Amino acid sequence: MIPRVIMSGIRPTGTGAAHLGHWEGALKSWVKLQDMGECFYSIVDWHALTTEYQDVKNIQGNVRQVLLDMLSVGIDPEKSVVYLQSAVKEISELFLLLGMMTPLGWLERVPTFKEQQAQLSDRDINTFGFLGYPLLQTVDIVIMKADTVPVGEDQVFHLELAREIVRRFNGLYGDCFPEPQPFLTPIPKLPGVDGRKMSKSYGNAIYLSDAASVVEEKIKPMVTDVRRKRRSDPGVPEDCPAFALHQAYSKAEEIAMVASECRRAGIGCLDCKKILINNINAFLDPFRQRRRRYEKMAVADILETGNRRAAARARETIARVRALMNV
Ligand code: SF4
Repeated sequence: MIPRVIMSGIRPTGTGAAHLGHWEGALKSWVKLQDMGECFYSIVDWHALTTEYQDVKNIQGNVRQVLLDMLSVGIDPEKSVVYLQSAVKEISELFLLLGMMTPLGWLERVPTFKEQQAQLSDRDINTFGFLGYPLLQTVDIVIMKADTVPVGEDQVFHLELAREIVRRFNGLYGDCFPEPQPFLTPIPKLPGVDGRKMSKSYGNAIYLSDAASVVEEKIKPMVTDVRRKRRSDPGVPEDCPAFALHQAYSKAEEIAMVASECRRAGIGCLDCKKILINNINAFLDPFRQRRRRYEKMAVADILETGNRRAAARARETIARVRALMNV
């Protein structure tokens, strides 16, 4: 299917900042999709509340960080509609209306519902808002009349729910929403500097906004293959998290050289990491340059323009929904 209208969102949680894992898993395809259709990219601050409603002080500061991250990687506000979810009030109206016809069982069986409740056991997320967040995601998509949603494999179920809700709505009241299709993005196994999956919550991430010196400080002490205790010990690159990053950010000939030299202890880990540091910094440099440019601009105005464009689309949709639902 050729994408016509594309929608995706990013949560302004944690420190707000996006890392290399976010780039590989989402932002990279967002940039690509800009040339394939009309894109709506939302900073979903209401979604942040579903898990962080008890600690809200950083949300708006994070919104600016996320916005700068999006702009720095090449999301172009001339091409894409970049907006803040909470600025489009029609989303809450459609959330209420679709909530009337969404069976409770559909929400309860979303696999991440129970998983996340178990994972985030330090927080009380036994709330109506948390149960409803897959419906809120559905609303984000359908209110823009999106037919394409870039998702990782783990999000496909949410999209299936959105498709079921669309079918139910269209069946009950008449044709209104397209059934959104997934645009599958591979979920990379990008390790953080401690060897676990790169994640904000593990404190092991390389952020898109990290200065070159910060990248160096993080990678130099990064864990490597445990076999290489001494410089003369040969290693197995496949067991080294630094090598996994080489595979993502180094040239083919460098990857081949590092692999063979590691195996015969021909290169020390520090020298190997220097190559990696240079390559990651070269990769991040265009992002840093764009970020510096945007930091000098009134990015709030960019968001304001996006908010207006998104609200205009949402108003059209809600008018049609209200006519069909007779309210
Ligand atoms: S030489 Fe490179 S790939 Fe091999 S263990 Fe050291 S850091 Fe990892």
